[in-house]
Amino acid sequence: MRNEEPRPLAGQCLCGAVRYLVLDAFVYAANCHCSQCRRATGSAFKPFAGIERDKLSLAHGEDDVMRFGDHQAHDVHCGRCGSLLYSVVRNGEYVHVTLGTLDSAPSIRPDKHIFVGSKAAWFTITDDLPQFLEHAD
Ligand SMILES: [Zn+2]
Ligand SMILES: [Zn+2]
Repeated sequence: MRNEEPRPLAGQCLCGAVRYLVLDAFVYAANCHCSQCRRATGSAFKPFAGIERDKLSLAHGEDDVMRFGDHQAHDVHCGRCGSLLYSVVRNGEYVHVTLGTLDSAPSIRPDKHIFVGSKAAWFTITDDLPQFLEHAD
């Protein structure tokens, strides 16, 4: 029997206080090199995947969540360890899940580099994925 329902993926912060579930039905995925993603993650870029907001739910640790930003667009961190779990974007309709916080691999793969125009000078992109100066088309 075929099961066509997307399976839920679990994710969590570094300390485990905040955990979420998200359906493995991401709409797009990219590596973002913008300065905000670099600062939020402390990394050269942020691999993330986008999905409708109602397909993600907090499974544990609502009281430990720290939100940075306003109601319609904010980053969701663990208030204890600081991990960036996901960002609420696009007028609150989508979330961008940081792929590094997932417990297991999603079906989707980042297939492009975005905001390469503000990429860190000390980092060199060594794959052949398409690069966009800002948002992808
Ligand atoms: Zn934590
Ligand atoms: Zn970014």
